[in-house]
Amino acid sequence: MENVPDRDIVPIKATDLARFHIALDVETRCWRCGDPKWKLAGDTELSGPMLVMGRQDPDPSEYTIPVILLTCVRCGTMWMSAREIVTNWMETNPAKEGMDGQ
Ligand SMILES: [Zn+2]
Repeated sequence: MENVPDRDIVPIKATDLARFHIALDVETRCWRCGDPKWKLAGDTELSGPMLVMGRQDPDPSEYTIPVILLTCVRCGTMWMSAREIVTNWMETNPAKEGMDGQ
């Protein structure tokens, strides 16, 4: 299996996603039940500086969809976001020193 250098996986942290949502004034409460807590689907709870990879498999033959999939911890509603939009925004809005990892 070969590496695919032109499809680098940009790591998205929970703090990056939070910055993105705040900057774009995105409503982050669940639109079905109003709960503010989400978790990464199939992963542990979304809080703190956790890495939010989404799934972007480096092997193109896998046909994975590069999305961030969050699940409402209360009612199970799923919230899917395109990784590309978030990582594009991160390029022009990098985290400031000291904002990360808190
Ligand atoms: Zn909900």
